Amino acid sequence: MGTVEPEAEITFRSDVDVELVKAAASDADVLWAARVSTKGESSLEEIEADPQRSKGLINYLMRDRHGTPFEHSSMTFYVSAPIFVFREFMRHRTFSYNEESGRYRKLTPVFYVPGPDRKLVQEGKPGKYVFLDGTAEQHKLVTEATQESYRQSYQAYLEMLEAGVAREVARTVLPVGLYSSMYATCNARALMNFLSLRVKREDSTFPSFPQREIEMVAEKMEALWAELMPLTHAAFEANGRVCP
Ligand SMILES: Cc1cc2nc3c(=O)[nH]c(=O)nc-3n(C[C@H](O)[C@H](O)[C@H](O)COP(=O)(O)OP(=O)(O)OC[C@H]3O[C@@H](n4cnc5c(N)ncnc54)[C@H](O)[C@@H]3O)c2cc1C
Repeated sequence: MGTVEPEAEITFRSDVDVELVKAAASDADVLWAARVSTKGESSLEEIEADPQRSKGLINYLMRDRHGTPFEHSSMTFYVSAPIFVFREFMRHRTFSYNEESGRYRKLTPVFYVPGPDRKLVQEGKPGKYVFLDGTAEQHKLVTEATQESYRQSYQAYLEMLEAGVAREVARTVLPVGLYSSMYATCNARALMNFLSLRVKREDSTFPSFPQREIEMVAEKMEALWAELMPLTHAAFEANGRVCP
């Protein structure tokens, strides 16, 4: 081992990327779907004519958990994050996914190293852990151990590719701290379920305790969604962040 020169510098990152690639999602979509119950087909102009009433209707739908009007929307997010985040993310079955392939292209050496703000020490019971700051020594150990491990595994990957081994076989040595990228598409109801579970908010009706790295992704998604659907987002907050 060690005879192959790495072709590219290894990149170490502590953050995640989230972009809203495309969207057909607005508060009007919720109102339009809800009002078909009482009025038959409604025009969007009518919905926008009485904002106070619209706000009240969205709040009522959220509070009483009439969820289906929130399904008439679509958002596609580009996410770049470590593979261990994607393993958790893809448990959310109401999203549609497409992820980059490790069979069709050589994987780029970008790896996750916890940043200086990442809490390192876990205390308490399963399901409700408390995370505390690490010491300077623990941060040094985590940084050095992860980087060294990534260097070794990526070197082994390159050695196998150089020897003519298929990408799908060589990639088996790469760790879950490797970054991947995907498109994830969802509607607002699915997104609220995701956010209720993947953002830690002690003041929510059912607090959840997600891993920090998927929460970093979820926080960025929530900020983008709140701009698209401000009334729906406000009602989600006001009603304890419970998925309707
Ligand atoms: C803090 C935390 C810790 C976790 N720990 C673990 C763990 O240790 N091990 C583990 O395996 N998972 C774990 N998970 C994942 C968790 O069990 C869920 O798989 C994940 O949160 C997706 O939730 P969901 O099913 O509500 O989402 P989605 O799959 O997006 O589903 C949304 C909603 O659709 C409905 N639905 C979807 N599919 C079905 C179905 N087949 N039948 C009936 N209703 C359906 C449900 O109402 C569901 O809430 C954890 C999640 C969190 C947030």
